[in-house]
Amino acid sequence: MPGLGDCRLQALDYHYQVEGGKYSRRPVDYPMETVNPLIIRDFSRCILCGRCVQACNEIQVNQPISFGYRGKESKIVAAGDMPLKESDCVFCGECVQVCPLGALVEKKSRYHWRPWNTEVIRTSCPYCGVGCQLNLHVKDQRIVKVIGVEDGAPNNGRLCVKGRFGYDFIYSDKRLTAPLIKENGQFRKATWDEALKLVADKFRQIIAEDGPDAVAGVSCARSINEDSHQMQKLFRAVFKTNNIDHCART
Ligand code: SF4
Ligand code: SF4
Ligand code: SF4
Repeated sequence: MPGLGDCRLQALDYHYQVEGGKYSRRPVDYPMETVNPLIIRDFSRCILCGRCVQACNEIQVNQPISFGYRGKESKIVAAGDMPLKESDCVFCGECVQVCPLGALVEKKSRYHWRPWNTEVIRTSCPYCGVGCQLNLHVKDQRIVKVIGVEDGAPNNGRLCVKGRFGYDFIYSDKRLTAPLIKENGQFRKATWDEALKLVADKFRQIIAEDGPDAVAGVSCARSINEDSHQMQKLFRAVFKTNNIDHCART
C-alpha cells in the first residue's frame, strides 16, 4: 500500500538499517503537481520504479503515463509532460494504489490519513452492479481513503474513479432519509409501509384498468445484480409484462 506514512521504501530502509548509499542522490527539479482534482504527484519522492506506468497501461489499460526524458532527467510523464488532468487519465487511482511511496497521493486523503490512526472496513462499492470490493479507511466515523481489495474478486484491487473517490455523498445533508409522497404538488415524509402500500395499490389499479403493458420498470444502475434480477422477475412473472429495462450507469 502506498501513501504518506505508509512508505515501503522507508520500511525496507528501517528493516535493513540503511545508513546511506554509495550513489549520490538524484537532484530533483520537478515541482510537485497539485493542480489535478484528485491526485497529487510529488516527483521528489518518485524512485522511477515504473509500477504506476505498468498498472495504468497493463491493468487498467488507460495509457496516459509513460517514462519521459533520460538519465537523471527521467520522469513519469503524462501527455508529453502535462498535468494528469490534461491527459487521457481517468483518475481511477490505480497508480496511487500501486505506488510504493508517497509519490502519488489521493488529494482528499492528504493530511487526513495515517495507516495507524484509521480503522479498515471492507465493503462493496455502492455505485454499480460490478460489486467491486473496497477497504474503507475510516477515521472519526468518516471515510478518509478508499483502497481496492487486492485479494478478492471481482476487482482484485482495481477500482474506477467513482469507487475510489466518490464517497463524499455519504455525508450530504441532501440525502433522503425517509420515503416521500407527493400530495397537492408537495412532498411529505411517509413511512416505508405507507409508501410501499401506495405503490402496490397504484400498480394494481393501473394493471386492472389498462392491462400489464400499461406499466414499466427501470432498474437503478446502482442496484446490485440480485436486486435487478428480482426487479425483472417482479415485472415479468408477477405483472406479466416485458416492459423492464436498466438505466445507464451514473
Ligand atoms: S489515475 Fe488511472 S488513468 Fe490516471 S494515470 Fe493513474 S492509473 Fe492511469
Ligand atoms: S509507482 Fe510511484 S515511485 Fe514508482 S515510478 Fe510511479 S510515481 Fe514513481
Ligand atoms: S462503480 Fe466502479 S468501483 Fe464501483 S463497483 Fe462499479 S466498476 Fe467497481
